[in-house]
Amino acid sequence: MSKVVLVRCSSYDRTEVFEALSRGFELFGDMELSLPDDGDILLKPNLLAPDPPEKGSTTHPVLFHAVGRYLKERGYKRLSYGDSPVVGTGLLVAKKNGIQREALELGIDYTELGEGREVHVEGARQNPRFTVANQVLDASALVNLPKLKTHGLTRITGALKNVFGTIPGLLKPELHVKLKDPVLFARMIIDLNMVVKSNLVVMDAIESMEGNGPRNGRIVKTGFILISDDPVAADAVGARVMGVEPYSIPLLKEAEEAGLGTVSDEKIELIGDPIDEFKVKVFELSPDSRQSWEFSPLAGWIRNAIIPRPVIDAGMCTKCGICVTACPVKPKALVQEKNNDGKKGVPVFDYNLCIRCYCCQESCPEGAISIMVPLTGRFLYGFKARLK
Ligand code: SF4
Ligand code: SF4
Repeated sequence: MSKVVLVRCSSYDRTEVFEALSRGFELFGDMELSLPDDGDILLKPNLLAPDPPEKGSTTHPVLFHAVGRYLKERGYKRLSYGDSPVVGTGLLVAKKNGIQREALELGIDYTELGEGREVHVEGARQNPRFTVANQVLDASALVNLPKLKTHGLTRITGALKNVFGTIPGLLKPELHVKLKDPVLFARMIIDLNMVVKSNLVVMDAIESMEGNGPRNGRIVKTGFILISDDPVAADAVGARVMGVEPYSIPLLKEAEEAGLGTVSDEKIELIGDPIDEFKVKVFELSPDSRQSWEFSPLAGWIRNAIIPRPVIDAGMCTKCGICVTACPVKPKALVQEKNNDGKKGVPVFDYNLCIRCYCCQESCPEGAISIMVPLTGRFLYGFKARLK
């Protein structure tokens, strides 16, 4: 049986979060089995992009503080934290969202996951070797601090997807290019989790995200913290809270098949407050793009007629060009030309080049990019046209 603790926590009030987390750890019980007494422990929050905490795109600094404080008080002294976003540095994100201030107060050092070394995955499903950040490979334990959100490519992002940040910066877009198909991408995430183990997961689901996630969706006040040492079970429980059958998500279904953890609710022991209390609504997800279209002779047609595509709301776009930088394909599927006045215009997509990785949507600081279902695809996706 895999153990998943759910504890009620209605806000990011410091006292409430610390008390809820402490109660959760007491219910979890055997932290000493998950974390070594000595050695370096790396905290891995989701530092997706330089947004303020109220936007909900990153792990909240108050939860980070509570975890850091609890571990310090339990005698775990050698703590550090880090992440590697696609655009910018983890430190920039940590400054913007407030985690850096909390870490300084606790004496937890930041470590940039900028350089790595190659590791091999035995029995890999998709990707037999990765370059993983040195600090991750050298740490005695990884404490995974994901945020519960929707995701354009993997449908939901929680503990398993959060590990993608252990691959240094620009190596991540390369994997997007190589693995255009969502199922292949999910298999790569599973392979990565085979070599980057989450010793402990503490999921920020006090406020979660639906719709145009993982960066620009709507906040849903789900009101709980999740603790587990099984990242698959953690995500499966998160999916159930969102109103999604976890076996319908290739990432979770295949992660269980790969022996990474448990999806079946019959094999997950839920401890703490009742899960039904946190099922506040059925989350709006990105349109399902699970079809393995890349192998079809009609791939080009399918891509343009059916597969959800990113679109820019020109009224919201500040023409910053960050999405163009984030686009991983060569030549870029998103170009920004100058207008007659010599200033940069709103970027324009070339959907024939676009691999639907949604890195542009994830990177846009204004939430100006959403995922739209082409007309033909709406017959498959229940006539839902666009996510906001
Ligand atoms: S769509 Fe977003 S990221 Fe791209 S130029 Fe406009 S504001 Fe910047
Ligand atoms: S345009 Fe956006 S979705 Fe298309 S390949 Fe570039 S980053 Fe990915």
